[in-house]
Amino acid sequence: MARGKKIYEGKAKTLYEGTEPGTLIQYFKDDATAFNAEKKDVIEGKGVLNNMLSEYFMVGLGSIGVPTHFIKRINMREQLVRTCEIVPLEIIVRNYAAGTMSQRLGIEEGTQLPRPIIEYCLKDDKLGDPLVSEEHIAAFGWASQQDMEDILSLTLRVNDFLSGIMYGVGIKLIDFKIEIGRVYEGDYQRLILADEISPDSCRLWDMETNQKLDKDVFRRDLGSLTDAYTEVARRLGVLPKNQQPVTKPTLIN
Ligand code: C5P
Repeated sequence: MARGKKIYEGKAKTLYEGTEPGTLIQYFKDDATAFNAEKKDVIEGKGVLNNMLSEYFMVGLGSIGVPTHFIKRINMREQLVRTCEIVPLEIIVRNYAAGTMSQRLGIEEGTQLPRPIIEYCLKDDKLGDPLVSEEHIAAFGWASQQDMEDILSLTLRVNDFLSGIMYGVGIKLIDFKIEIGRVYEGDYQRLILADEISPDSCRLWDMETNQKLDKDVFRRDLGSLTDAYTEVARRLGVLPKNQQPVTKPTLIN
């Protein structure tokens, strides 16, 4: 499928105009960044794995009635998505303490939380995506009260779905981040799940060993990121069981 002009280049993905009005092509790069891009590398095959994994989760969520921007996967690195206006928030769900929550509150990583905890960060790389409260969100008009109610119910459905899928393949869903988009249908606006769901945006630990199978492998230099993501994809049946780790994607670069 022919790509249109480049609309936006992010750290791990690039967006191009789609062929139909109201669509975009989301291209998954191999670039890995952490700590607000202070640490950078190119991990061969990461984009291919994230494209396939994100397709798997978005299709599954769509099938239980969660609206998403995903239309179809085009090839190994690209998917066609619906154009939407991104709500300027990163929505983080935590089932177990880890990462910045553990640092901030001094709770040991891996401690199960009494209930899923939702945090909101302002999407602003220059400010390092700061944590914000619902008071900030309302006062600065980043989302309305109705939006926040819709975001909460959508987010909890995503958490239940992903936690269950992961549990089924022996993985604990520690936490994850999602982004939400607005689409306009006539006079109405609707919120849909946008961006991606992949081991770049989730923390995934093996249930038995607590081995990390997510981007912390890169952030903390714990081994091969491709091996970790391939393991997740294999367990979910996204890659055939006997397929070797994706090191040299051949269909498209
Ligand atoms: O770093 P922190 O502990 O706040 O991250 C919580 C979750 O959100 C992790 O799964 C992390 O991968 C994800 N995240 C993300 N993009 C960001 C910040 C966090 O995908 N900009």
